[in-house]
Amino acid sequence: MLINIKDFKADVNKISLNFSQNIQDVNDFPDVVKFLSPVSFTGKVEKTDDFYTVTGKIHTDVCMNCVLCLEPVDISIDCDFFQKYANVDTKEDETEFFQGDCIDIFKALKDTIICEIPMKVLCREDCKGLCPKCGKNLNLGDCTCDNTKYNESFKSLRAMFNLDEEV
Ligand SMILES: [Zn+2]
Ligand SMILES: [Zn+2]
Repeated sequence: MLINIKDFKADVNKISLNFSQNIQDVNDFPDVVKFLSPVSFTGKVEKTDDFYTVTGKIHTDVCMNCVLCLEPVDISIDCDFFQKYANVDTKEDETEFFQGDCIDIFKALKDTIICEIPMKVLCREDCKGLCPKCGKNLNLGDCTCDNTKYNESFKSLRAMFNLDEEV
């Protein structure tokens, strides 16, 4: 996901961008099991003096696990991207410094996606979770265990994740 600043000419101060990248390594992405589609970016980079401002839209799909029953859930991520770059020291916190002829937007793109990943994912609003004794997914039906106690702790588990919060 490289932008070559040599593509800017005296009469060119705006370049369209269209990137797509597969991600195999999910270690940097909290709670993501895998990426179901490449990370795609559509946008533009505009040059103003020493600044290169990249704006656009990110799309990808990830697989996560329901926090209660651990079943896989597909999550679609769509978000805006904005990052300023400069190859001189601008003393601006929000501006990323780069050296050479290329700006690699991948790191900033990755950070934006990480912020968009939900903290908690549910397979469905009223997910019943797993039986703590036999491990059965209670969404698929009841088991024969006595879970009177569990029902109480399950409520506190939902409370811990704020799943019953009024929105
Ligand atoms: Zn679930
Ligand atoms: Zn059970």
